[in-house]
Amino acid sequence: MSASADRVFLDGEVHTLADPDETHEAVAVRDGAVVRVGDSYDVRFLAGAETDVVDLDGRVLLPGFVDAHTHLTTVGRYLVHADLSGADSPSDAVDLLAERAADCGPDEWVLGYGYDESTWEEERYLTRADLDAVDDERPVVAFREDMHVASANSVVLDRFADEVPADCLPTENGEPTGVLLEEGIDPVYEAVEPGPAETRDIVEAALADCAAKGITGFHDMVRNSHAPRVYRELDAADALTARVRINYWTDHLDALAETGLTTNAGSAFVQVGAVKSYTDGSFGGRTAKLSEPYEDAPPDAADATGQWVVDPEELAEHVAAATAEGFQFTAHAIGDVAIDAVLDAYETAAEPPVADPGEARHRVEHVELASDEAIERLAATGAVASVQPNFLKWADAGGLYESRIGDRTAETNRYRDLLDAGVHLAFGSDGMPMDPLLGVHWAVNAPAAAQRLSVTEALRAYTSGAAYAGFDEHRLGTVEPGKRADFAVLEESPWENPEGIREIDVTMTVVDGEVVYER
Ligand SMILES: [Zn+2]
Repeated sequence: MSASADRVFLDGEVHTLADPDETHEAVAVRDGAVVRVGDSYDVRFLAGAETDVVDLDGRVLLPGFVDAHTHLTTVGRYLVHADLSGADSPSDAVDLLAERAADCGPDEWVLGYGYDESTWEEERYLTRADLDAVDDERPVVAFREDMHVASANSVVLDRFADEVPADCLPTENGEPTGVLLEEGIDPVYEAVEPGPAETRDIVEAALADCAAKGITGFHDMVRNSHAPRVYRELDAADALTARVRINYWTDHLDALAETGLTTNAGSAFVQVGAVKSYTDGSFGGRTAKLSEPYEDAPPDAADATGQWVVDPEELAEHVAAATAEGFQFTAHAIGDVAIDAVLDAYETAAEPPVADPGEARHRVEHVELASDEAIERLAATGAVASVQPNFLKWADAGGLYESRIGDRTAETNRYRDLLDAGVHLAFGSDGMPMDPLLGVHWAVNAPAAAQRLSVTEALRAYTSGAAYAGFDEHRLGTVEPGKRADFAVLEESPWENPEGIREIDVTMTVVDGEVVYER
């Protein structure tokens, strides 16, 4: 007689999300893996005296979500510091920061994360005057949600302005406005970088948030962070409630190579991912690199087509160095010129062509403004388009994309075209916010009707698509015998109410067969 299951889930709507998607009533789990999907009647026979029996009561069980692009410590900071993502005006953001200031000690920085002025009626960055109103004795910083723009008060400017390059410090009448751009943010960011103990608090807060959102795995983008150590400590203590793939910055490449940590090295829960580089900036900061100028470039703008954060020549060197060490590479590229530069570098690094395009599996992060030709090249190189459907909130009429790039808005975030061209599509959030069902909602209800995905396609991009981006398709991303038992159970069916997907609650999250969240 076969051993009984550790846990069975009965009387639900279990979607494998394999291709084709199959639905079953029940699933059984043993030793952290799926051992059977089928009718409740059959699966029930695998339950023994020790088996935990979960009654799904008609709910939908899916493979757990994998967020292919997040910044977990940033997400955790939203939870610990002022969360400005819900602010709907500059004064609202100032109020939230003032609330946080009341909880901070006399020497503590007052920090806020995640403001997005593009959704405000008064559409402007926060200024030093705003932040001086919060506090004029302690340092106050508010980070824009894309982390490519920050706003600082006079205390911070007095302390750091000398370290900020002039083109990253906009001025008005010769005085800094309080806005910091791109690498101008670095000195401030380094000053507020949490130590090991605070990092652990932040990571644990963010992991609890993952579990509540049905996220069973994520690809984290880290740089000069204590988070990798925290992940490995939690893993060693069997206390990690999601699988982590760590994408390290290019400046970590030599250290990684020396320690022998190449792509896919690690445990079942913590693995080395890709080596990551920027190319351009963001639409929010008008620093995404474009072939045609921004619609709303200020008349005195030095470069109306955006900025390189890492220029194509340097990028190509990074790609060549990382590829030579056997690493998967991933590059942030938002504007059309940046996407082309990444593809140039990948194509060069792949000469002579790799036999199996899935072998290198390089990634492009964001892919917001891709030309037809770029989409064809993505398919041909086998590169993964790692995209963030929650960015579609900027694609509505009168939204951020329209003010920055006008008619080109219709050519942003071309998920339908990417899938139809055979490009590997992986969904993530960039932590803005971290919420897979919100992303699925946007992909299904995209403002550009021609680019909408079906519910099944959108869910796949957040499960098997993201798993593929992490070389994990053999063990994660579908509910099938032999796969790890990572599940998200939803209160309602996204297929039955596609216009209301963002409102659906997660009922239960299961990782490696263990329940890590119950609503
Ligand atoms: Zn990011």
